[in-house]
Amino acid sequence: MKRILTGLKPTGDLTLGNYIGAIKQMVKMQDEYESFLFVADLHALTIYQDPKELNERIRKFIAMYIACGIDPNKNTIYIQSENEYIPAISFLLECNTTYGEASRMIQFKEKSKQNANFSVGLLTYPVLMAADILYCDSDYVPVGIDQKQHVELARNIAIRFNNRYGETFNLPEPLLNKNGTKIYDLKNPDKKMSKSEENPVGVISMFDDRESIISKIMKATTDNYNKVCFDREKQPGISNLLTIASELSNIPISELEQQFANKGYGEFKKYVAELTANHIENIQKKYNQILNSDILEDILNKGKEKTKKIAQEKYKIMKEKIGVTRNIIK
Ligand code: ATP
Ligand code: MG
Repeated sequence: MKRILTGLKPTGDLTLGNYIGAIKQMVKMQDEYESFLFVADLHALTIYQDPKELNERIRKFIAMYIACGIDPNKNTIYIQSENEYIPAISFLLECNTTYGEASRMIQFKEKSKQNANFSVGLLTYPVLMAADILYCDSDYVPVGIDQKQHVELARNIAIRFNNRYGETFNLPEPLLNKNGTKIYDLKNPDKKMSKSEENPVGVISMFDDRESIISKIMKATTDNYNKVCFDREKQPGISNLLTIASELSNIPISELEQQFANKGYGEFKKYVAELTANHIENIQKKYNQILNSDILEDILNKGKEKTKKIAQEKYKIMKEKIGVTRNIIK
């Protein structure tokens, strides 16, 4: 079975974008692949996080994954920071990454512009992501289009390391979902929906209550065409709502276009709002049950033990190849 890996960073509450773009894809793939899923808490630290909020989110994320349909028996679920070998591997990889490569990452360029006092971690975090991907020889990394470049970087680092020191890593590939589903901010549909967005009016959180979900969708930015039609260029807002509705109902976009061909935006929005609120409400019911049970501890202990063993072994191999080991290598 091929191995896939996904990590989500607890920089804010999980959004509908994360659910559709990442978690839902993992649920679909859990029968076909051996799947590793983790909370990328170290990645969250590239931007300051309130310690208490960060800490609470780690547990919330795990419970939410499971509520969204991630089966703990089919997935290895763990917390990134509980595996000390991953940052250790990351440093060895950093020394095989050029500054030019790291600074060319689009996310680095964008986020470093937003804050002049950005941390060094913001620059090196894609290498930590490479460590996440490479320590366990992932075959595929399911990502939204925004993360594709980081998987390609991981692959390039692996190629360089293999060339310098001999075959060490499997070469990972990004796995974009068929329609490259990207969910956009409801208020600003040219921008991706993001959990670290400071102004949440256009962001649906998986923890939002029914009223806020409905109100945010009803207030979503649309256009003057008055035609429910998928056209990313001319009608980004309506196209985004069509994507959301199609993903949550499993009805193809073309069918939804037909269904609302002669109807106004108000009616269409109401449909999307009810659909989304019902869907998230169902997930939240399961989430509350899981958070109040003690299965989380078991799941996390199992994940920690298994992934530490794998990372420890990889770290040892890397050190020996590089030459940083006490014994003289023959
Ligand atoms: P941040 O704002 O902190 O970057 P984020 O919402 O972008 O948070 P990430 O932790 O960066 O979330 O990404 C987790 C996963 O969710 C990745 O696979 C990413 O591609 C996917 N993802 C994030 N936002 C969206 C979105 N709006 N639409 C589809 N997929 C998304
Ligand atoms: Mg992101």
